[in-house]
Amino acid sequence: MSIAEKDLIIIGGGIVGLVLAYKMKIKFPQKTVLVIEKENNSVSHGTGRNSGVIHSGIYYPPETLRAKYCVSGAKQLKEYVKSRSLWIDQCGKILLPTSEKSLESLPLLMERAKNNGVEAHVLSGDQLCAMEPNCNPIFDIGIHVPFTSVVDPKEVANSILDDVIKLGGEVLYNNEVTEVDSLNGYVQTPFMRYRGEVIINAAGLYADKIAGLSGIPSCYSFLPFKGKYWRFESKYKMQKLVYPIPNLDLPFLGVHTVHNRQGRVYVGPSSTPVFGRENYSGWSGLEIKEFMSLTFSFFKKMLFNVNGLRDLAFRELGLLLPGGIYRESSSLIKNTNGVKLSIASEKVGIRSQIFDDQKDYLVSDFVIKRQERVVHILNAISPAFTASFGLADMILDEYLD
Ligand SMILES: Cc1cc2nc3c(=O)[nH]c(=O)nc-3n(C[C@H](O)[C@H](O)[C@H](O)COP(=O)(O)OP(=O)(O)OC[C@H]3O[C@@H](n4cnc5c(N)ncnc54)[C@H](O)[C@@H]3O)c2cc1C
Repeated sequence: MSIAEKDLIIIGGGIVGLVLAYKMKIKFPQKTVLVIEKENNSVSHGTGRNSGVIHSGIYYPPETLRAKYCVSGAKQLKEYVKSRSLWIDQCGKILLPTSEKSLESLPLLMERAKNNGVEAHVLSGDQLCAMEPNCNPIFDIGIHVPFTSVVDPKEVANSILDDVIKLGGEVLYNNEVTEVDSLNGYVQTPFMRYRGEVIINAAGLYADKIAGLSGIPSCYSFLPFKGKYWRFESKYKMQKLVYPIPNLDLPFLGVHTVHNRQGRVYVGPSSTPVFGRENYSGWSGLEIKEFMSLTFSFFKKMLFNVNGLRDLAFRELGLLLPGGIYRESSSLIKNTNGVKLSIASEKVGIRSQIFDDQKDYLVSDFVIKRQERVVHILNAISPAFTASFGLADMILDEYLD
């Protein structure tokens, strides 16, 4: 079998893989770059199924990768979107405390904003309602973050794909990587064998599987959570995004509002444990072996309430009950009486969440692991869409110079 040689091979053609390819071709135009993607497009998973929010970086402790690359990535992503005249709503975000506990986290968030260089203002309930008449500041206080914006994530990814191709990069769809030899740099698909000077594992929901294929020792297991959204009927409009001040012990931002380019307002996403990597609806995308092991692993953690997972599960159960999502959203927004809310089946995502089995916690930062010729990007959870430009800079500087 013939072997195609490349300078850089990227496994996974979602936003993280595409931005890496794009930046690589800008930095080293002569080098050959190949992206290998198992689907027939770049937006089947996280990249095409997220809220499309360009996050500011206010949430994350300053020393984390999420803080560093969210802040640097967000600025670049915004510039990119503007330079290509793609849709963007620079609407800003309101963060509201929804309980005594989240009220206590407000000063910590403001401190993180300061440390991360994010513009944020504490405002009174009246000031917030003047900005967004539908927000419901039950504690008469909240944070305004002007930088936060919304884009169309599919449009962004497809634009970067066009740029990669224009710059001479190759993107190979319908090719699943089935083997990785990290020592010699070989990558196998059902049709072809490739050899890369460097290989980047940007396989999102499957990044831990690719890491396993290449034999890297790991203390992590996969623990996916589904994010489901609900859609308001079209007469309900919002100018700002409204988020809760989240439980900072968990890597989730909480149910919030987001709107799309047509002005449709959604609330979500949920954080429901799910027992298959692609189990977007019903019984689809379930594999029996994985289903059994994820079910066992989750219920064990739930039994011992590891990382507050039992509390989270009960809260999620509440969202399944009639009126649950109205109740959840009523601590953020008002004027929803009589406005129909339905499940947005077109908008369901699954988080590539990993769990640290040694330290017993849901990993809350991105994890980068070097193994011979391979660099693995694990736990590419939110805000990896926002952070993709920053992450790409770091990986090119540290692993490809
Ligand atoms: C509900 C939800 C809402 C979110 N909202 C936001 C938000 O508002 N803002 C934000 O910044 N982030 C958000 N995120 C996070 C964001 O969507 C992800 O972090 C981001 O999409 C990760 O991109 P990726 O390229 O790593 O993954 P993906 O988009 O999943 O791409 C990985 C690709 O690898 C491919 N692949 C997997 N295995 C193989 C293989 N063996 N061979 C070849 N190809 C393979 C997959 O098919 C996939 O296309 C959200 C996530 C969820 C779930």
